[in-house]
Amino acid sequence: MSLSVKELTGGYSRIPVLKNISFEIEDGELVGLIGLNGAGKSTTIKHVMGLLKPFEGDIRLDGQTVDEAPDTYRKKIGFIPETPLLYEELTLREHIEITALAYDIKKDEAFKRAELLLQLFRLTDRLDWFPSDFSKGMKQKVMILCAFITEPSLYIIDEPFVGLDPLAIRDLIQLIEEKKNNGASILMSTHVLANAERICDRFLIIDEGKIYAQGTLNELHQQFNMPNATLDEM
Ligand code: ATP
Repeated sequence: MSLSVKELTGGYSRIPVLKNISFEIEDGELVGLIGLNGAGKSTTIKHVMGLLKPFEGDIRLDGQTVDEAPDTYRKKIGFIPETPLLYEELTLREHIEITALAYDIKKDEAFKRAELLLQLFRLTDRLDWFPSDFSKGMKQKVMILCAFITEPSLYIIDEPFVGLDPLAIRDLIQLIEEKKNNGASILMSTHVLANAERICDRFLIIDEGKIYAQGTLNELHQQFNMPNATLDEM
């Protein structure tokens, strides 16, 4: 899998938020998208997901744009949005079933893939619960579970640590690392810089819709001439 974003200008209703941004993500890379509130992280993610159309520039997943092959493009991505988006009228079990249906996964296989996550997130006994029965953190866990069972080649994860308890954060970090080690690519936006530093291979630093630095932590140290600085000191 390779994701290539070239000279992307985009945003909402023709008002540019992102200004000429370019980056790539290769197989097995975990890239952190870092920036202050309003910097343009979620807007970048919405463009990569194909939810917003570029005003200019080009986004390609394995060489194809979302318009060239919408279904194939979207099925390669496991999306965990910042705010959980669940169907109020469907139970957790039914969420797993419709995810399986949407991604052409056999129902049995989907439940097999879900088993470990259901245990880890203590949801095994809650398959018949509706979203209204879940706390915000539990809803976030359901979103994570539904994205993970699709076993995509690219995970797009928007602010994954917000609202999760420390145990779930630890488990999620481990899961993300496992996926990466198995060859999946991951674009993760986060404000939790200590976690990002621990697990990301590279960083995209975004501010006011522009990527003003990108690279490994060492490369950023050189770029900012701040050896040994942490991300939040840069
Ligand atoms: P945060 O860390 O707070 O989630 P972010 O880096 O994800 O911030 P974005 O949500 O991408 O930031 O917002 C970037 C800019 O786009 C902001 O100026 C914001 O006001 C604007 N924006 C975001 N959503 C919309 C929208 N639906 N319509 C118009 N402008 C928007």
